[in-house]
Amino acid sequence: MKAAVMTSLGHIEMKNVPKPEKAAPGKAIVKVEYVGICGSDLHYFEHGKIGDYIVDYPFILGHESGGVVTEVGEGVTNLKVGDRVALEPGVTCGKCEFCKTGRYNLCPDVEFFATPPFDGTFVEYVEHPADMCFKLPDNVSTMEGALIEPLAVGLHAANQVNAQIGQNAVVLGSGCIGLVTLMSLKAKGVSPVYVVDVIDKRLEMAKKLGADVVINAAKENTVDAIMKLTDGAGVDLVCETAGSKVTTQSTVELVKRGGDIVLVGMSPDSVLPYDIGTLMNKEATLHTVFRYRNLYPVAIAAVASGAIPLKDMVTNVFEFDDTQHAMSYNCENKADVVKAVIKVAD
Ligand SMILES: [Zn+2]
Ligand SMILES: [Zn+2]
Repeated sequence: MKAAVMTSLGHIEMKNVPKPEKAAPGKAIVKVEYVGICGSDLHYFEHGKIGDYIVDYPFILGHESGGVVTEVGEGVTNLKVGDRVALEPGVTCGKCEFCKTGRYNLCPDVEFFATPPFDGTFVEYVEHPADMCFKLPDNVSTMEGALIEPLAVGLHAANQVNAQIGQNAVVLGSGCIGLVTLMSLKAKGVSPVYVVDVIDKRLEMAKKLGADVVINAAKENTVDAIMKLTDGAGVDLVCETAGSKVTTQSTVELVKRGGDIVLVGMSPDSVLPYDIGTLMNKEATLHTVFRYRNLYPVAIAAVASGAIPLKDMVTNVFEFDDTQHAMSYNCENKADVVKAVIKVAD
């Protein structure tokens, strides 16, 4: 079968790799149809590593996947051949304290697609545990199935701050993760949601997906704008998805007294100094997220019901054979591409 294989920094070649043969017990073989291009894929493509995770070539990227089941192994009862599914990428041990308490995203032994040394899904077929393949209803496409992965991050962020009706929020950053966080907050009844970015195209997308007010931080001071909009109170929920030092530092100023902050974007630089004194004076709570847990069924239901207009986020669709171009185009046109997906097959 064909695979888009990263052979060196910034290089992807279409290669023939062995197709998964026969589905092992408890597993399914899925014909991949769509794979989203994530910021982490772009980071590995450009830099060859993220923190301690270093790519060992050849390496296959891609972890946001939707496809069709072509084979099921012994003992699989939740799936049948022909089912369209979204693949949750992290396979955990099931035995540790974190798995046993349902916080399996914290499992230290997770094997996650496209996180070295585990290959990803820029391939035609993949074998995956059947319980991590989530069936899509008829009105949810496999392209949306691929986007369930980032949506789960947004839902987890909204859950971490216990987002609910009656609250207001600011989302810092309007890339893919900012947008899924925005949609998750709106779906939970949070209003108004203010979205901040420095790229107009991304802010237009935020408006389209439900942002009540957008703020271009290159043109106006974010803290001043939010204080004006909230009569000096700040917001109940601050969701940082831009992963920059200044946006992370600003969260303390933006949050209302007693409010909640969640850090979703990971800043490459130190975010210090972080104003813990002000955080304490406000008795605000600081949360973080690491991926997500137990949210694929929730995300799929939210898309199926129409509560979350997930597919409207996609700005670019690339053919599988053009994966090299798709990746370099993304890297070179970050201001223009909001969310890209690769069409592996129809
Ligand atoms: Zn992702
Ligand atoms: Zn575990």
